[in-house]
Amino acid sequence: MDAASPSRTDGRWELSTLAPRLLGLVLVVDAVAVLVTLQGLLAGPADGGVLLLALALAALSVVHTELATGIERTRRRAAESSYFDLSSVWTFAAALLLPPGIAALVVGVVYVHLWYRVWSPVRVPLYRHLYTTATVLLAARAAHEVVRLAGGLPTTTADGRTVTAVALAVLAYVVVNTALVGAAIALARPGAPLRDVLGRWDDNALEVATLCMGALAAVALGSTPGLVALVLPPILVLHRAVLARQLEDAACTDAKTGLLNAVAWNDRAAAAIRRARRTGTGAGLLMLDLDHFKTVNDTWGHLAGDAVLARVAETLRAGVREQDLVGRFGGEEFVVLLPDLPVGEAGREELCLVADRLRRRVERLDVGVDTPAGATAVITGLSVSVGGATVPVDGTTLDQVLRAADASLYAAKDAGRNAVRIAVEATVPAPRRPTE
Ligand code: GH3
Ligand code: MG
Ligand code: MG
Repeated sequence: MDAASPSRTDGRWELSTLAPRLLGLVLVVDAVAVLVTLQGLLAGPADGGVLLLALALAALSVVHTELATGIERTRRRAAESSYFDLSSVWTFAAALLLPPGIAALVVGVVYVHLWYRVWSPVRVPLYRHLYTTATVLLAARAAHEVVRLAGGLPTTTADGRTVTAVALAVLAYVVVNTALVGAAIALARPGAPLRDVLGRWDDNALEVATLCMGALAAVALGSTPGLVALVLPPILVLHRAVLARQLEDAACTDAKTGLLNAVAWNDRAAAAIRRARRTGTGAGLLMLDLDHFKTVNDTWGHLAGDAVLARVAETLRAGVREQDLVGRFGGEEFVVLLPDLPVGEAGREELCLVADRLRRRVERLDVGVDTPAGATAVITGLSVSVGGATVPVDGTTLDQVLRAADASLYAAKDAGRNAVRIAVEATVPAPRRPTE
């Protein structure tokens, strides 16, 4: 993962490493947010009732953040998603209820408080937080304008038009926020998958759920203000649900390489093979073992060995399709399950091409490492042996295909290493792997 990208999988980007076009976007969005806020503030004085509502929303946000600080810090450290923010419950309510300038002040208070209590402690760069704040200011303003044009704020008599207006405001908020954050990610990581640019489906569902709570908070504040307290428990439970999902993701991930760990890979690969059986499609399985990896450790040290494992993992991930399952089987052994291959010879040929592409990519790797003596060095001359097998020709269960691929891997090692063997051509003696 590129440490300089404003991605949802990465908590920090360094200003000095921003590409000029990304820097341009950040500066323009920040400037527009400042201008829109100033325009809102200069639009006219606010009466006491409005200020009281603003104060109530800011206070509720502070209480919410304080109650959720522990959850939120852990969430952002495990950070798969770093910009989805449950404080939009309050910023969205402000956008619906308050004149734009006052709503912007509420956003300001919410984000200054979040900075000190959540973002700064996990060392997110300030300008990144400012960009997030700017996107929220603009999303809130868009939601306000939409609800105003489409049928009135929830404080007026509730009717069908109000409901439509609030639904459209939710849409406007999500679209503006997602577009601005997505644009920054797309500029920072050209070619990033759409899922990274637009956010995962469940993250977006969470954002919409939070905005719905924001709409209910606005209705409560507009009619029976005390009822707004009812929003706090569900929003804290939502918070915990996010953390639970992130921990679930962490439990499936191999910490050293970021790939699926053996258990998670096994579950998903077995499901993919069952699906292939049901739908009559083919699938392929590759097993890869780094050659003479013990020598890498013995020469450069185990930390350098770990760096090699991480780079190889990255290379494998980048060398296959999005839907292919790449896992760390154990030690210096990796597995890849490729669903949706043609059945029979065509599938076998495709698997062979992929395997050989991966083998060549590993062969070309240069891995920069720190030596035990404190200098830096570049490890080259790496290679990997690859064994493959296909579904349904070599087996119709994960266990059968794994055995066939494992046997092929031994054939590749026997052939002198840095080689690919796919089941049918692998004339294989019984595995001679040490049993300890
Ligand atoms: P071959 O070509 O036959 O596969 O030789 P090899 O040296 O790669 O295989 P061997 O099984 O003898 O050694 C594997 C080595 O991988 C030994 C072990 O210390 C190392 N290893 C396993 N897991 C890790 C790890 O997480 N980090 C590091 N640095 N080394 C590891
Ligand atoms: Mg091995
Ligand atoms: Mg090995």
